[in-house]
Amino acid sequence: MPSDATPCPICGRPAPRRPANRSHPFCSDRCRLIDLGKWLGEAYRVPGPRAGDGAESPGRPVEQEDEP
Ligand SMILES: [Zn+2]
Repeated sequence: MPSDATPCPICGRPAPRRPANRSHPFCSDRCRLIDLGKWLGEAYRVPGPRAGDGAESPGRPVEQEDEP
């Protein structure tokens, strides 16, 4: 087993590293697109930002800290 190849996260086949493989860490462009589609699908499924994830009250300026 070549040490410069990591298993593709999609199909599990050995994926050569860059620069020989432009689709790294995937074995091919096809697997890269599959992963991208999966990622986008999950992103679209999320209704909105979860509370307490760092993004709080978007659009509301936080400048007044001396307000009682
Ligand atoms: Zn693959």
